[in-house]
Amino acid sequence: MSKKRPYARKRFGQHFLCDQSVIEKTIAAADIKPGDHIIEIGPGRGALTGELLVKGADITVVEIDRDLAGDLKKRFQHQGNFRLITQDILKSDWHGIIQEGRCNKVVANLPYNISTPLFFQLVEQRRQIHSMTIMVQKEVAERIGHQGDGKKLKDYGVLSVIAGSVFTTSMLFKVPPGAFNPKPKVDSAVIQLKPLVNTLENEKAFFDFVRRAFNLRRKLLINHLKNNESQVYQSLTDEDQQALQNLRPENLSPQQYQNLFYLGRLGQ
Ligand code: SAM
Repeated sequence: MSKKRPYARKRFGQHFLCDQSVIEKTIAAADIKPGDHIIEIGPGRGALTGELLVKGADITVVEIDRDLAGDLKKRFQHQGNFRLITQDILKSDWHGIIQEGRCNKVVANLPYNISTPLFFQLVEQRRQIHSMTIMVQKEVAERIGHQGDGKKLKDYGVLSVIAGSVFTTSMLFKVPPGAFNPKPKVDSAVIQLKPLVNTLENEKAFFDFVRRAFNLRRKLLINHLKNNESQVYQSLTDEDQQALQNLRPENLSPQQYQNLFYLGRLGQ
């Protein structure tokens, strides 16, 4: 490998994994099988990449930093199962990354500044992805993985409802700042997302419905529905209206959001 650049670029959220046990746990969680197609976002200095390659899968890595990409190319290009795309993942065409008909698995230690927009890309692409094993800021993992069970309500929001509607989510393990170089200021966590086989019709409209509700997080949901979602409001039974009287956006489960949007009922 060429000489490592000694510094990390803040603007690309670079915190490189240096704790071998965290690297091994992450790879084990991803459950790589020979013949899988792995998509690694932000390979950086290749801490995960090197371990992924020995599992016998084909790997596509997407890295924005040209210098790091140059190093990765020198280090891994002789391996037939390695493909490098030097690009911003947020501007990438996923059709050129995902391999149709293959078991695509995403593995990534994500730059924190892009974790939310990337989450929405993964939601969009999920039907072609078997699993996503991703390391994100702990708070983001807690929001995505929140089950809508009434606990820690401040963590429950749009990400939780959308994740709970399209994925099964598992919080795998926490990762302290000391596992990285340079150390981030916050804790991280590895979370795994697996797409549900459900088909949400017109899902963009459903996601917008959820977003509008949480824009008025402090308001009673019944008032929001009355003022801004007249179609849903008019379809509610008296019983549902009664049940909604004191509820705010964070009090409804992902299933109840779906019931409201698709059936015009609150349900369980
Ligand atoms: N995977 C490496 C590891 O675990 O040591 C590096 C992780 S570091 C937190 C995030 C990596 O994502 C960096 O290599 C950074 O350059 C890259 N990156 C940041 N923004 C990106 C983007 N928009 N598209 C692709 N890669 C990006």
